[in-house]
Amino acid sequence: MAEGTTLLLGALDALPDNRLAGDCALPGWSGKHLVAHVALNAEALMNLATWARTGVETPMYSSPTQRDADIETHSALPAPELRDRVVETAVALDASLAGLTEEQWRQPIRTRQGREVTGEEIPWMRAREVMVHAVDLNAAVRFDDLPGDFLESLVEDIVGKRSGAGLELVATDKDLRWTVPGDTKTEVSGTVAGIAAYLAGREADGLSRPAPPLEPWL
Ligand code: ZN
Repeated sequence: MAEGTTLLLGALDALPDNRLAGDCALPGWSGKHLVAHVALNAEALMNLATWARTGVETPMYSSPTQRDADIETHSALPAPELRDRVVETAVALDASLAGLTEEQWRQPIRTRQGREVTGEEIPWMRAREVMVHAVDLNAAVRFDDLPGDFLESLVEDIVGKRSGAGLELVATDKDLRWTVPGDTKTEVSGTVAGIAAYLAGREADGLSRPAPPLEPWL
């Protein structure tokens, strides 16, 4: 999580305001929408940290509509303010997680998608956000730049959520393969970074040959 935050903030620092106002890699979003989302995501995960700490149900967002409206509103803030907010909220999330006791880490909570997890899932949820969105900024970071152990965990995670897609994924740079169950079976081979980008529904230049497109994820 800390490594991903460093990558994201570094990429953001390298991106001038005029590019931040332009498109990012996610359809319909500017870089400012993406940064607003990352800041609001830290606040949403702080709600989950509160849930873990108190045992009182505290959802990430009050509703999907409210989540989207908040991203839209915040994306209109001046770039310097957004840059500050993404740093401040990351620091605040760290602080709220640092205070959790062993028992609180194991408190059952629920993600936005309704998945039952424990507080221990929060750092992984945040790591995914900051790492993948560091790439989505269209700045200096690519999937190839993300840590190898993170990429493998990301592939494992998405493979579990793409059930039905029917894929046999073969890594060309490591002795690894994964199966996504489905009625058909398409073999997709490439670097672990390429497979992770592909599974995340992102542009994947690390594949051996073109593969059937997948919907964006996250
Ligand atoms: Zn996100």
